[in-house]
Amino acid sequence: MSADASRLSLLCLGTGRGATAVYDGDASSSAALVVDGEPLLLVDAGFGVVRACKAAFGAVPRTLLITHNHSDHAAELPVILAAECARDRRPRVIAAADVATTLRAHRLHELHSTGASPSAFADWQDVAPDTPIALTDTLSLRLLRARHSEPCYGFIVEANGKPLLGYGGDSACDADYYDRLWVAPHVVLDARSRANAEHAGFTQVAAYTAERPTRDLHITGYGRPEQAPAELTPLRPGECIDLNGNPGT
Ligand SMILES: [Zn+2]
Repeated sequence: MSADASRLSLLCLGTGRGATAVYDGDASSSAALVVDGEPLLLVDAGFGVVRACKAAFGAVPRTLLITHNHSDHAAELPVILAAECARDRRPRVIAAADVATTLRAHRLHELHSTGASPSAFADWQDVAPDTPIALTDTLSLRLLRARHSEPCYGFIVEANGKPLLGYGGDSACDADYYDRLWVAPHVVLDARSRANAEHAGFTQVAAYTAERPTRDLHITGYGRPEQAPAELTPLRPGECIDLNGNPGT
């Protein structure tokens, strides 16, 4: 069981990669951390994520974590901020400081015409890697720098300081980075059929896992349903990972 009595889960909202939502209409890779049935944190806000989030919860959670500024992870952020503020629901945006700076300067440029600064639309929480960020009295997360084409951060969710979930975000295969995520019993990694300099491949992840202790590993960011891995466990849109169990440890 988790360190507190809450029921914790991670709900997959989408598994799409760069072109998936734009060309095929399936939501970009995103997930929500859910506590006792309520969404506590939205992880990434790329194309198609708001509709998936509304279908799951009826609303967008107040707290958003943006791993990096690619459109399949951040495209809907300016609309979310403007729409939520218009409803007097001011969002909280968690991002690494370098990612947050890029988001405010470039992703939110379309809001500049309002005459208001990005700080008018959200409570920005610019954070340093490896620094605990409180989500509740017992839950916190720490950002970890991934290996990607631009600054991108995965994270570890901790319950009372004990690792619970490692979420890799977009990353090329990097054993040192994966080792930092592997401290958690549940791990979600980005991978696709063919590896490149920005993204791990299924066979690379399978090779890594073969030499490590078993984890409750799921793959996301692979694209459309038919692009899911056969040799690894894909996360599917609408699927929930129960974080209260502790498999493999
Ligand atoms: Zn990316």
